[in-house]
Amino acid sequence: SAIDPVPQSEAELAFEGALRPKSLSEFVGQPNVRKQLQVLLQAAAMQNRTPDHILLAGPPGLGKTTLAMIVAEESGRPLRMSSGPAIQHAGDLAAVLSSLTPGEVLFIDEIHRMARSAEEMLYLAMEDFRIDIMVGKGAGATSIPLDLSPFTLVGATTRSGLLPNPLRDRFGFTANLEFYETHELEQVLLRAATMLDLAVQPPALREIAGRSRGTPRIANRLLRRVRDWALVHGGIADHDAVQAALDLYDVDEDGLDRLDRAVLNAIIDRFDGGPVGLSTLAASVGEEQDTIASVVEPFLVRMGLLSRTPRGRVATAAAWRRAGKAPAAPGAP
Ligand code: ADP
Repeated sequence: SAIDPVPQSEAELAFEGALRPKSLSEFVGQPNVRKQLQVLLQAAAMQNRTPDHILLAGPPGLGKTTLAMIVAEESGRPLRMSSGPAIQHAGDLAAVLSSLTPGEVLFIDEIHRMARSAEEMLYLAMEDFRIDIMVGKGAGATSIPLDLSPFTLVGATTRSGLLPNPLRDRFGFTANLEFYETHELEQVLLRAATMLDLAVQPPALREIAGRSRGTPRIANRLLRRVRDWALVHGGIADHDAVQAALDLYDVDEDGLDRLDRAVLNAIIDRFDGGPVGLSTLAASVGEEQDTIASVVEPFLVRMGLLSRTPRGRVATAAAWRRAGKAPAAPGAP
């Protein structure tokens, strides 16, 4: 996704494409989401109708695009891919919607970044498979109704909190993707290593899994770095190679990367542990607010290192311990 702090290279995109599971049964983890999708798709197939609209929410790299492709694949329907940032005017959306074939699955990644005017057009399209196209300007403007083919919208968002309620309400099902457990990431890695014909020892896979921020995309990315390290050092991809490679790339034992640590250090050292607001925090580490809120914070919250309060972000006692410091006295000047 576009807000990933590490831009994805062509090579990584090709690598990801090759590793994407093609069916729900190949998809690792997220057991509830898998069962819920299974029922939703099967019921639609039994009644020979388009499946309900689906919203996939969660941090980058947890499998939202992969699931959208699986929805199309499992229901035997073509897939059209688009993204919020590509839809800057209602007209952009009208062009996509009016060209859908009956039953097509429309995937809109980062749907929270779509233009407001397009959002309103999407409400009607989702509900009635119909849009109104405005022609002309001012007093002479008229709207021309246009019927659409029935379609299934699969929306993905890293910031479900930014979606307007009327849009959120029009999805028949929302899947909140969770960070993966280490044993699930081991499965993801084992599958990737097998498909790529890489000999990686099981303890090495476990170590990579534990340092992957609960995220399949990061697990696969670290696997590539370990493979490179072993190649260059003429060695095997064992536990020592993992440690050396991941130290080299600044990933610590808990999987925190440079930006995660920068955010924690800023809260502790510059803001006495918080509370500090998102915009202030983002400016202080020189990152986009969206990246802090959708990539960094969810993981730090999950690790028990950060809490989000109404007054701002606060470092937890565990974060202070990790930094080897005593918490600032509450209310101290
Ligand atoms: P998102 O759209 O949420 O950013 P993607 O669907 O692009 O994430 O997933 C990123 C990569 O991680 C994909 O290449 C895919 O191979 C891998 N991946 C994600 N989820 C899973 C999973 N549950 N099982 C196996 N691989 C996965």
